Amino acid sequence: MNSPMDQGKPRIALVTGANRGIGREIAYQLALKGLKVLIGSRDENKGRHTVEDMRREGLAVELQVVDVSDTESVRKMTESVKQQYGRLDILVNNAGVLLDHGVSVLDVEEAVIKETFETNYFGALRMIQAAVPLMKEHKYGRIVNLSSGLGAFEVLQGLLGLKGSTSAYRTSKTLLNALTCLVAQDVVDFGIKVNAACPGRVQTDMGRSTTSKSDTEGVPAPVTVVEGADTAVWLATLDEDGPNGGFFRERKPANW
Ligand code: NAP
Repeated sequence: MNSPMDQGKPRIALVTGANRGIGREIAYQLALKGLKVLIGSRDENKGRHTVEDMRREGLAVELQVVDVSDTESVRKMTESVKQQYGRLDILVNNAGVLLDHGVSVLDVEEAVIKETFETNYFGALRMIQAAVPLMKEHKYGRIVNLSSGLGAFEVLQGLLGLKGSTSAYRTSKTLLNALTCLVAQDVVDFGIKVNAACPGRVQTDMGRSTTSKSDTEGVPAPVTVVEGADTAVWLATLDEDGPNGGFFRERKPANW
């Protein structure tokens, strides 16, 4: 792993949606590695609770309120990070919503698609556009996009037998994958790497709310949050010779 310090200063990592679920565990694991971690939370109270819990374990975490679906909120977050730390080394775009589970693409409402894209795609894009200029200043950056195999083309074509269901969520992740490829090409000369991670079906509020065709109702999601966070943490702390512009599950390349 890269050193958690740069010229005597701790590297700063921001994880969106870190107040619960996979994001919380990613933040926790990064803090355990000695990074200073900003707990991104759209709800101040929820974020504060998470920060207090982690501080009780002696971890260097701070609250950063940010709703990624809100341009003004992302702008304020950027100003605050610039003023307080003057740098941002790692961004984990974890915040996500799944609003159309099991709904056919023929029935999904346009408002639901737009709400999903505002967080899962535009939210990640807003955060990347805010973070990259700060990363360029120090010629270092690691960006991780929490994607999903459900947005991969082989799955969209029917591999898991999901047919046209959950289309707003799945296409938002397809777009996030495309974004990963495009950003990778424009940051490569600046010491910045961007990759996408699929955590598997994880035991979180979101993971528990979904079932795939091979599951029976009520079968728990198979992947623990600790396991689900692992690939994202690995990508967030890649060495200089690590990959750029890839999609990974269990630290191995996954199909787009
Ligand atoms: P989760 O338990 O539902 O937690 C989602 C987190 O995102 C919460 O902290 C939530 O905040 C936050 N969030 C939602 N919208 C936001 C917004 N506009 N701005 C800021 N934060 C926002 O989900 P999870 O299972 O941990 O999933 C994390 C990521 O992994 C998501 O991107 C998801 O698509 C991806 N993923 C999950 C699975 C799985 O099986 N769980 C599988 C594949 C991919 P609030 O607490 O305020 O709602």
